[in-house]
Amino acid sequence: MDRLGNRVFLKKIERDGRKSSINGIVGVIQKVNGSYEWFKTNGTNCYGNATLTYHMEKVYDIISKNHFNSNPEVWHCNSCKTYDYFDGSYITFVEEEYFLENLQKCIENAYKKSKNDGSGYNLLKKK
Ligand SMILES: [Zn+2]
Repeated sequence: MDRLGNRVFLKKIERDGRKSSINGIVGVIQKVNGSYEWFKTNGTNCYGNATLTYHMEKVYDIISKNHFNSNPEVWHCNSCKTYDYFDGSYITFVEEEYFLENLQKCIENAYKKSKNDGSGYNLLKKK
């Protein structure tokens, strides 16, 4: 099991007596030796804003194929085609510390995307 896979947070949320048919998922990046560099690299986009690149080869297909998969694409920047941090991917990757400090926000976002069978995302589901 890889480090991200280990920490993928799965939660089925039921509200108003309605069951969501698919899980909302948040990919929590584990801090290793004081950093998250094993999985992500910081960069900048065409306006000099911070961007993130992930080392997708380190996670299973079921995770990587459900990242950067919004359809239509939800861009952070239209010009250089960088995806929106929260809504550009079905599985958003968040750092361990950010996740713990923003639990509600992360779960709400995953829940929102799981509604309507994940419409707005090209989903790879387990067979
Ligand atoms: Zn740009």
